[in-house]
Amino acid sequence: MQAEERTEAKATVETICGLPVDRAILFADKKGIYRPRIEKGRTKLLQNLGFLSRFLDTDEKILLVTTGCSPFTTFEELTIGGAWVVAVKRALFVFTHKRLFHIPATSSFKYRGSIAQVLYQDCARLRVKGSALIAEYHNGRKEKFLFIPRGDRAIIERFAIEPNESDRPSENPQRNHLCPCCTQILPASVEACPACGQQFKTRAKALKYSLLIPGGGYFYTNHLWMGLADALAETYLLVATVVAFAMALRGNAEAWPAAIIFAFVSVLEKALTVHHSNSFLAEFIPDDLKSHLGNQPPRAEPGRAPSTEDRGPRNQAPPRGRPVLAVSWPHFTVNGGRLARAGPIKDFPHFGRIRRRGGQSNSRARGEGGQPRE
Ligand SMILES: [Zn+2]
Repeated sequence: MQAEERTEAKATVETICGLPVDRAILFADKKGIYRPRIEKGRTKLLQNLGFLSRFLDTDEKILLVTTGCSPFTTFEELTIGGAWVVAVKRALFVFTHKRLFHIPATSSFKYRGSIAQVLYQDCARLRVKGSALIAEYHNGRKEKFLFIPRGDRAIIERFAIEPNESDRPSENPQRNHLCPCCTQILPASVEACPACGQQFKTRAKALKYSLLIPGGGYFYTNHLWMGLADALAETYLLVATVVAFAMALRGNAEAWPAAIIFAFVSVLEKALTVHHSNSFLAEFIPDDLKSHLGNQPPRAEPGRAPSTEDRGPRNQAPPRGRPVLAVSWPHFTVNGGRLARAGPIKDFPHFGRIRRRGGQSNSRARGEGGQPRE
């Protein structure tokens, strides 16, 4: 019986786009039924995430990849605009059986060079409310990731992520940004990775470019369209301010209020650019983004195994966090071509093996290049 279960569980773990995934969960809908449409959509998202293989620990499998937004404040929503903020804060979310990866993305779901993780053991609760995924951390902070698709919210709810009583939070129980080069956790507000020296874009430079160039802060943080829109608005305000002041100085007293208002709005607009730029910089954007993205593995084809090049020379990161946290994770079994829900995670041979023989499974070396991991 045990042997049969093991074979069945093993069969659901595959390497897709160079990433180890549990396809029985990844390609199933909220009822646990396999859907070709879901397979197509998720595979398309995974094609942009080949770089993620270096961040995964041995035995860590991807269970779900979905879309949504990075956390944003009401102030940002009001000043950027409702529709724009959704595009600007677009992100991908990757659930493994151990943590949630938060990956800021472009409007076409491409990697921006930044990545963060939420270890389940750092969450007092990770729940779905409305369109939001809400992480409540052990340090008392709370973060909202909005606009998670409806079907995926139901799947996340079914995961029922709960910490084990024996699991202790990590040193920084919150969302932690990771170095995109060496995968180590980055301390808050550093300008370079303490482990590998990777430089990140800085607030000082964002301020300089924001002040000197219309839309400069947005261009510096790689937000081209916001930069263009801002440059147009800023140029208009600058011209209007100069014209109004010129008229006022030539003796047209009625031009003074307009001149003062235009000048005030110009200053306000610059301040907003700086504020928004700093918010983007909080995600740690590599200074040499183009060469950094150029070093990423090319867009992965489904079924392609990870190559040694994908892992790079600096990717010998030690495992982070505890092996497996969830205790009531539902899983799916193949039942006459239909995936049906079965018992909790502790009964699932694959996960169970990690839990029961944690030391053994985790000491196994990472799969060698070209060898799909089991
Ligand atoms: Zn680093």
